[in-house]
Amino acid sequence: MKESAKPVRKCHACLLNQGDRCWLYLYPRGQWRQGRRCAALDDESLHARFRTWQKQPSVKTRRELRQEFSRTKKKDGVRAATRG
Ligand code: SF4
Repeated sequence: MKESAKPVRKCHACLLNQGDRCWLYLYPRGQWRQGRRCAALDDESLHARFRTWQKQPSVKTRRELRQEFSRTKKKDGVRAATRG
């Protein structure tokens, strides 16, 4: 069975939860397996590292640029249709 990268319900309040993946672990479910509690949930040093990482400037991929352009194009198209 393929191991999912998606955080589990218990990750809900975690700062490192990226929605579709965990910032730190490839397999978040494994951190909660068999009654264990994820050690990174309350680790302030990890949270500080994550905040530093977040502040770094990011370079958008070609895919992200294309998606962003597509979304603005659609909005403009809708606006143009309602105006005219
Ligand atoms: S660090 Fe632990 S609690 Fe936070 S999202 Fe990852 S697996 Fe979940």
